[in-house]
Amino acid sequence: MSKIQMTTPLVEMDGDEMTRILWKMIKDELLLPFIDLKTEYYDLGLEHRNETNDQVTFDSAEATKKYGVAVKCATITPNAARMDEYDLKEMWKSPNGTIRAILDGTVFRAPITVKGIEPTVSKWKKPITIARHAYGDVYKGVEIKVPGAGKAELVFTGEDGTEIRETIHDFDGPGVIQGMHNIDASIASFARSCFTYALDTKQDLWFATKDTISKKYDHTFKDIFQEIFDAEYKEKFDAAGIEYFYTLIDDAVARVMKSEGGFIWACKNYDGDVMSDMISSAFGSLAMMTSVLVSPHGYYEYEAAHGTVQRHYYKHLKGEETSTNSVATIFAWTGALRKRGELDGNEELMAFADKLEKATLDTIESGTMTKDLALITTLENVNAVNSEEFIKAIATRL
Ligand code: NAD
Repeated sequence: MSKIQMTTPLVEMDGDEMTRILWKMIKDELLLPFIDLKTEYYDLGLEHRNETNDQVTFDSAEATKKYGVAVKCATITPNAARMDEYDLKEMWKSPNGTIRAILDGTVFRAPITVKGIEPTVSKWKKPITIARHAYGDVYKGVEIKVPGAGKAELVFTGEDGTEIRETIHDFDGPGVIQGMHNIDASIASFARSCFTYALDTKQDLWFATKDTISKKYDHTFKDIFQEIFDAEYKEKFDAAGIEYFYTLIDDAVARVMKSEGGFIWACKNYDGDVMSDMISSAFGSLAMMTSVLVSPHGYYEYEAAHGTVQRHYYKHLKGEETSTNSVATIFAWTGALRKRGELDGNEELMAFADKLEKATLDTIESGTMTKDLALITTLENVNAVNSEEFIKAIATRL
């Protein structure tokens, strides 16, 4: 059998712990036997990030700008415990944060649906993709615990000295205040990523804020989305037969619960934080979520939505058997391969991505799955397998 050829390399970002183990198994069993795999390899494992003073993370993001498509393994974001465990020179920042800052993108997360793992909300038939604006608002908030009576004001001083001043509240006792911000450029880039991804995936786009209450802050989000849509995307949406739909956040939540799914839900930062966990738990598991960073400049970085599955890795190190779900990591690869195929006009590569996804889902639907899914499936006669057996079962089917 001749292998599928690639013209442009994928940017490959290797990672940590159990997902690093799965990464190699997926390449060895599911990719290398079928594809003449071209990648530019960056080792984002914590040890190598530490050796390179995190330069490798920056280099991998720059490579993504050069080639356009990356696939990333889950990585450790260091905390105090990791400083000791890996004898780190510094508490390196989250690679995802660094990459996102360089590519200026939005993360889209969607559940991978499969028969036998039914959403808690029985009306949901198709995945709901969450797009979270990952800048500002309460995450960059400045807060004061008001000690007692006094006047709180919001003051903006322009570069030319002009002042805008609003009273927040005249306190007659203790309380709290918070100042937060966002930037038009960031909102615009979020909007463009959402419109681009909706066109890419041919799904409707929903967006919601609380603009009736927040007449300037949230209203700005609404206006920027609408202006960009009208000027740059309306015709393309019409041609693709998809819609942009704006509503209030409370109305959106009510409609989502009654919908069948199959759309993208763009959320402000806090809404996205909360709603993405609701969607992932309602659809089954974090290990069944895809995640892709889409930049308004047309770069794509595919990953799994979960972390490095540390607990399983320690078991693995002790020589114990693990049953770690590799579906999201496999779908990170298929997402990246399909996008690469699309950009290069490589039909074979795109078809391979489809086949690998189908083989993965068929394996689960036939009853062979990892333990996390075996615990929640509605299928009977389930064969709960270990990490390696699951990947080998997919390979056989493929
Ligand atoms: P985690 O996602 O690794 O695990 C959370 C829980 O979900 C655990 O109980 C785990 O057993 C279960 N789980 C997750 N993925 C699974 C899978 N594929 N199969 C079976 N069970 C699965 O998150 P965590 O434990 O909070 O973090 C572990 C490490 O991952 C941390 O160092 C963190 O910094 C890192 N992390 C990385 C990313 C990323 O790179 N995108 C995201 C989140 C966390």
